[in-house]
Amino acid sequence: MKFKVDENACIGCGACQAICDEIFEISDDGYATAKDVEITDEEIKERAISAMEGCPTSAISENEEKEES
Ligand code: SF4
Repeated sequence: MKFKVDENACIGCGACQAICDEIFEISDDGYATAKDVEITDEEIKERAISAMEGCPTSAISENEEKEES
């Protein structure tokens, strides 16, 4: 499971980083980015989903892109 942030929708409120800083961080431009890592830890996954659901502008979505193997 991976996440992505729509930088056009993000308002830089910081909520996602506060909930799950393993995955989301506010970059130098003031908007959130999601780390491009596959999340396997259930506890981190749950918090990342909470962050997605809690985003005030629905800027976070699940990144469904499949890696070429
Ligand atoms: S919670 Fe949403 S709007 Fe707030 S910083 Fe994260 S992605 Fe941006």
